[in-house]
Formats: sequence, C-alpha cells, structure tokens
Amino acid sequence: MSANRGRSIAARDAQIRRELEPDVGPLDDDADCDAGPCTESAVFAVPAPEGGEARYCPYHVAWFRQQNPEIWERLEAAPERVLDEDPNDFATVGNRFVALADAPETLADDTLVRVALLVNGQALYESEEPDEAETVDYVAVNRRLDVTASAKVPVEKAGEWLRGNRRKYGWLAVEDDVVRALHGDRDAPVGGDGQ
Ligand SMILES: [Zn+2]
Repeated sequence: MSANRGRSIAARDAQIRRELEPDVGPLDDDADCDAGPCTESAVFAVPAPEGGEARYCPYHVAWFRQQNPEIWERLEAAPERVLDEDPNDFATVGNRFVALADAPETLADDTLVRVALLVNGQALYESEEPDEAETVDYVAVNRRLDVTASAKVPVEKAGEWLRGNRRKYGWLAVEDDVVRALHGDRDAPVGGDGQ
C-alpha cells in the first residue's frame, strides 16, 4: 500500500513536471493565440517568461521575439531533436509594429501623439490638444501609417474611452505618461492632482 502510494506520488510529480515544462515548438492543433483578445490561430508555442508556455499566432511570435531576445536566442540554439524547424519561420511582422518605439512619436505634423501598441500590431495615437469642439481624435495606424480606425471622443470621456480600448484590445505596450494619466489604473502611480 505504501509502495502504491509512493508510485502514485512519483507519477503525480512526473505529471506536474510535464505540465510545468514548456512544450515549445510548432503547433498542429487549432488553438487560439494567447495574446489577449487576438483572434488568430496559434502556430508556435514559446517558453513564457513567467513559466509554462504561450501559444502565439505568427505576429505575436514576432512580437515575443522582439520582447524576449535572450529566450529567443536559446530557442534558435535548441538542438534539432528538440525543435526541428527554425522558429523564425513562424514569426511574421507584416504590416504591423512589433514595438511601441517602432511607431513614430507623433503623426500629422505633430498634432497626434503616440499612445499605445494595440494587440493587432497597430499603433494608437491621440490628438495632443482637444479641438474647438472639445473633442479628442484617436487614430490607429499600421506600419505604413495608413489609418485603420479612428474615433472622436469628448475630452471629458477620453480617459474612459482609453480604458475601454485597453480592455478591448489588450494593449501590448503603452506610453508611461498615458498610464499615469489613466488615473485609477492599478499599474499607475497615483498622481497628486488626479481626482
Ligand atoms: Zn496573436
């Protein structure tokens, strides 16, 4: 009985180890990409920095590569028996930004300032000053700087709109001052002048 118990504990430990060890490499099954609300199919599993693995579509593989160069180097150096294909073959940047800093800081003669990198690889901008009608323009652009989406938001609703956009699109990166401006966000240092 104690031997059985010992075996079952060993089996359970092996199971836990398997679950914790990242199962990295190309994916055959049709899984959803793990990057927030991304709706593309995952093609490759990477070792997640926080442990386990993350399954990403081609764009988010490229984004991961940009974010985690050391992990990516180890992936590239993996022996063939572990990973029999070049992980770079699974990364596609396309017409998207893979880092917030890749997008210009300003657009449209400096009237629009960079805010965030959306989960779809497009960069979000907002007008630096509200217009006469007290509205703020929001614009998303792809890597060619084509406008792919836009909105006009009353200035008093701008924070709420940004928080909603962040919830919906799961921003990959955001400007520090925008985080601070989104008063009430748990990531934000609480400013003295926010109400
Ligand atoms: Zn994705």
